[in-house]
Amino acid sequence: MQNKQRVVILGTGGTIAGRSAQAGDNVGYTAGQIGVDALVAAVPALAGEALEAQQVAQLDSKDMDHATWLLLAQHLAYQLARPEVQGVVITHGTDTLEETAYFLHRLLAPPKPVVLTAAMRPATALLADGPQNLLDAVRVARCAGARGVVTVLNGQVLAAEDVRKVHSYRVEAFSAGDAGPLAVMEEGRLRLFRDWPQGQALGLAWLPSDVARWPRVEVLLSHAGASGGLVEALVAQGVRGIVVAGTGNGTVHRDMQAALQRAQLAGVRVLRSSRCVNGAVVGDGLLDSAGALPPVKARIELMLQLMAPSAA
Ligand code: ASP
Repeated sequence: MQNKQRVVILGTGGTIAGRSAQAGDNVGYTAGQIGVDALVAAVPALAGEALEAQQVAQLDSKDMDHATWLLLAQHLAYQLARPEVQGVVITHGTDTLEETAYFLHRLLAPPKPVVLTAAMRPATALLADGPQNLLDAVRVARCAGARGVVTVLNGQVLAAEDVRKVHSYRVEAFSAGDAGPLAVMEEGRLRLFRDWPQGQALGLAWLPSDVARWPRVEVLLSHAGASGGLVEALVAQGVRGIVVAGTGNGTVHRDMQAALQRAQLAGVRVLRSSRCVNGAVVGDGLLDSAGALPPVKARIELMLQLMAPSAA
């Protein structure tokens, strides 16, 4: 008997919806060109399924912005509240996939599956990865017991908290680091290794609808020869939070460290994370730790904490 529960597919653009002038060009293409209806129609195995597709945005995710995040979160909350909706798939670009996934999970920690999928190659590539990823994403959204925000690419299901883009062009571009994948998709079947992500939803009600009112939080990188100049410039511009991508275990060049401590005294929230691809910041330091969050997710966390007191 066919499953009458619906899976809603929200399109936002990305390479999965990308088109190049020459078939087979894997890098010289324009992202965010093909509508989400056409992406679904290109997967014959999805024909006849109870799906609804809606275009929420059409952009290259390198240009993702807070206004689009807010719009997406509102659409998502609406769809998740519909009893007939089993789960939601979001087609997205790979460049900021991990940021959008983390943002949505912190806000909604959904009791239904929200599956972000993407592609490393445009839809016009000789061997496009998008159709298989989209099919796998719908299969994950249909899994009994699935919940939380996850990503599905290249046969791997990764939790929003863990996922990171770790390669610039290969199809196997994502990793969950030390945590490892939550599950793998094997010929349309899910092999689950651990529990689905849970969490405390912050909700949407308190989020200012004018994104210009969201606090400005920036990421800086510590490196050989780093100075405090950029910190001072940001403080002068009224920044509310700074995440420093430190060396190793969240250590920071002494000149930048001194400037960050001065910023802290001036009321700017500072978090130290690591520029290393794997591992967490362990132990105490003079600046608050971002723990296992990489710099870009720590930026979101700090921004949410500055807006929602319950997030702290
Ligand atoms: N720049 C593209 C994007 O993030 C890359 C991709 O989707 O693979 O939208």
